[in-house]
Amino acid sequence: MADTVIDLRSDTVTKPSPEMRRAMAEADVGDDVFLEDPTINRLQDRAAQIFGRESALFVPSGTMGNLTCIIAHTRHGQEIICEASGHIYNYEMASMSAIGGVLPRVVAGQDGILSWETISKAIRPRIYYRAQTALISLENTHNMAGGTVYPTRLADEICGKAHDAGIPVHLDGARIFNAATYLDEDVARITKKFDSVQFCLSKGLGAPVGSLIVGSREFIERCRSIRKMLGGGMRQAGILAAAGLIALEKGPKRLQVDHDNAKVLASKLAAIPEITLDPAKVQTNIVIFDLKKSRWSAADFLQALGKRNVLAVPVDAERVRMVTHLDVDGSEIDKAAAIVREVLKP
Ligand SMILES: *Cc1c(COP(=O)(O)O)cnc(C)c1O
Repeated sequence: MADTVIDLRSDTVTKPSPEMRRAMAEADVGDDVFLEDPTINRLQDRAAQIFGRESALFVPSGTMGNLTCIIAHTRHGQEIICEASGHIYNYEMASMSAIGGVLPRVVAGQDGILSWETISKAIRPRIYYRAQTALISLENTHNMAGGTVYPTRLADEICGKAHDAGIPVHLDGARIFNAATYLDEDVARITKKFDSVQFCLSKGLGAPVGSLIVGSREFIERCRSIRKMLGGGMRQAGILAAAGLIALEKGPKRLQVDHDNAKVLASKLAAIPEITLDPAKVQTNIVIFDLKKSRWSAADFLQALGKRNVLAVPVDAERVRMVTHLDVDGSEIDKAAAIVREVLKP
């Protein structure tokens, strides 16, 4: 793809930096199934330390990280409470059911954010003829609700009350560092009460591949077996962990730039008459806008935009998502907004 393309489809499109490629080339490696890859071990130790947990496990994708945790927390025939537009329910190939054998009990949040009140109504009664609620899963930031953030007090409250009800809580924290940046709190604090956390190295943090899950030593040992069962036991994967270590150290520090760019993008887009968007709702690096006031469907609009070298993805028939990341700078954001305005001009 030519360099002139402004790719706002996702923060997963970022390419590894020269520093990462060098570290990958020079990484110390070993067989990680034998627990002998020193770079993987370093990455896992560092992640556990940053999150204030006993242990961490490197997994090839966020999808596998979430599924691994779901399987570790549940038995076949049980239920998971999750948000209606959430990633685990909509973008993970129904793996929780197809492989994990559990039923999603879906509840809609406000901008993707759930409250204890809505969650508690979805908990199944403890009666022998009802499938039991085995897990609650939250998403922070919430991707398809537009990168929205859980206030820490709310996340703490949900976890506390879930635990009182004997139910563990998993966090799909694919973009947890974006949430931490928005809140100006550290990830250990905002994830403290969750029983398990999955987060992605391969999104805004800039690594080419990989996610981590963090939790107690006993939980992570269980996850290691499940990861192997799912085909995620890798060998000299230290070449990936080497990039992951740089992403983990350096990635979080620059996320504010992505958030600032998203704010600018949102306000420029909101000024276009054919677009419906409240820039005040943009908290992190995701901008979702509506084309209902225009004559365009999301699909036709994205095709026209693509011809002008600006890429984004549809959310549904009328809505479009743009994501800022380390490979788009302020001038490209300005340019993308100007091209959107031109394409939409009646
Ligand atoms: C990207 C993402 C994941 C995991 O995606 P993979 O492509 O499997 O790494 C999980 N949850 C959310 C909210 C995401 O945005």
